Amino acid sequence: MKKAKINASPALLDDLVAGSLILAQHEVLDAYGHVSARSDKRPDRYIMSRSLAPALVTAADLVEYDLESEPVADKRKGFIERYIHSEIYRSRPEVMAVVHSHSASVIPFGATRTKLRPIYHMGSFLWSGTPVFEIRNEKPDNDLLIRDRPLGKALARTLAKCNCVLMRGHGMTVIGDSVPEAVFRAIYTEMNARLQLQATQLEGPIEFLSDEEGRRSTAANRGTLERPWELWKKKALARK
Ligand SMILES: [Zn+2]
Repeated sequence: MKKAKINASPALLDDLVAGSLILAQHEVLDAYGHVSARSDKRPDRYIMSRSLAPALVTAADLVEYDLESEPVADKRKGFIERYIHSEIYRSRPEVMAVVHSHSASVIPFGATRTKLRPIYHMGSFLWSGTPVFEIRNEKPDNDLLIRDRPLGKALARTLAKCNCVLMRGHGMTVIGDSVPEAVFRAIYTEMNARLQLQATQLEGPIEFLSDEEGRRSTAANRGTLERPWELWKKKALARK
């Protein structure tokens, strides 16, 4: 059976495969979690792997979805939680990539009253806030997973204009204006969480970045994103 051609540039598909491998190598994704990209040819479509561990993803595993998270042509089994992606693309037209992970160090911040805040410049994009999505408010009889459009919509509503949303008892989701940016943010959300947890063991109070520092540093990081991306991609592809 001939595979339907995906409506996206080859460069975007390459980035998506590399993003999956990079996140697996950084242990931000294990057998679970996913990265997606809005199509650069059709803004009402997005691309993500079929249901598969991120370390195993190749170009042949990518599937095109509409914004209801229905596959356009390829009917192979998709991720249950793909509604996270489609509902964010619907509510935030400027978002071009999304990563959802169960990144370990982030979990305590979704389960307690302590806010995840930018402790260093690499986590500066967190300045815009890290709201916590409480699934019980939407669905008391839940299994924590974002299984349908209403839950995806509620998550996107909690994310609002922020760059990162935590999910109580589950994980987190970050957005970016490119695949490299969303991957960068997923990696540094995990690192920022780890560092914040370490800092709580030292004499406080912790001095976080101010909103203005956060804003400026986010713009600065955007300007140098090519450097880590080139390195990460090379390492990830070398290990294949
Ligand atoms: Zn999940």
